[in-house]
Amino acid sequence: MTTDIAEKIHAGQRLSVEDGLRLFRHPNLAELGLLADHVRRRKHPERIVTYVVGRNVNYTNVCWVRCKFCAFYRPPGADEGYVLPQEKIFEKIQELVDVGGARPKSCELLMQGGLNPKLKLDYYEDLLGSIRTHFPAIQLHSLSATEIVYIAHLSRLSLEDCIRRLRDAGLDSIPGAGAEILSDEVRQIIGFRKDTVSEWLDVHSTAHRLGMRSSATMMYGHVETVEQRMEHLKHIRDLQDETGGFTAFIAWNFQPTDTELAQEWNGPKATGYDHLRTVAVARLFLDNIDNLQASWVTQGPRIAQVSLHYGVNDFGSTMMEENVVSAAGTRHCMPLSEMQRLIRDVGCEPVRRNTRYELLN
Ligand code: SF4
Repeated sequence: MTTDIAEKIHAGQRLSVEDGLRLFRHPNLAELGLLADHVRRRKHPERIVTYVVGRNVNYTNVCWVRCKFCAFYRPPGADEGYVLPQEKIFEKIQELVDVGGARPKSCELLMQGGLNPKLKLDYYEDLLGSIRTHFPAIQLHSLSATEIVYIAHLSRLSLEDCIRRLRDAGLDSIPGAGAEILSDEVRQIIGFRKDTVSEWLDVHSTAHRLGMRSSATMMYGHVETVEQRMEHLKHIRDLQDETGGFTAFIAWNFQPTDTELAQEWNGPKATGYDHLRTVAVARLFLDNIDNLQASWVTQGPRIAQVSLHYGVNDFGSTMMEENVVSAAGTRHCMPLSEMQRLIRDVGCEPVRRNTRYELLN
């Protein structure tokens, strides 16, 4: 059934959206895996799997957007709402540097939070600038498109001016969070107050134009159709054709526990098969993106390990702390030694990288 698609892949030709849809419906998962593994080996012939030493810091959980899929936020005024004091954030960064070492820009700080109406651009400039001054080892891979659109709005700045000022304050690159599914129809259902598809794409294309890199993500396994998954992948591929600014693509599935969406929608949680199929199709369709990251926080170490044979070439961050997914009931932790063991077990050498995917050892 997929002979023509397999021929295209072996000839290095680009797949169409229709091809992607057929792959999503193809009954033989192992065959998909072989094709995705072929592309992964073509892009990365060395037998290595990379990872980055990093941690998440969720500086505030206050958010007025109330996405239905999110169990992390607390609305403004709620007793459990917090903004971490700068000393606390510094303590967490110091713990990261203690583990990752002092080499410049070698440790990844993924700092993200809710859309807190009290935090304007000056808060972020001060925080990013202080981190930049005190911790040269840190690569500030922080703030989602959703946060940046809101900071610009609150501070009455154009998106470009806002991103330029964040960059000048110390922001190095932007994580792909907040993409969810890049279909306004889906966003209307799962988080109608958050940024639109064009706003998300605008943040990333503006950042790329300003010389910054970013990653792309997809949160699947809820109300979306496979057509909408393909619409999402097409948006990413088209933007990458224009700018070349995405370093990597990461897919994870919706974590339903304690979310409003789970009560309303009541659909089944995505399975390991669905995850492997999704990363394999992404590997085959996103021919212009070099790296696919495993999602061990949501999928657990075993499926993450298997995904290394379905197109994935990177194990992601050591993630010393994670609060967003764990708020929705998913708690996977992994010491670095275990990550390295899982990688060696599939016959590859674990190699540390930085956020720009430059190898460090
Ligand atoms: S996903 Fe982000 S924007 Fe949406 S409610 Fe949660 S913290 Fe707020």
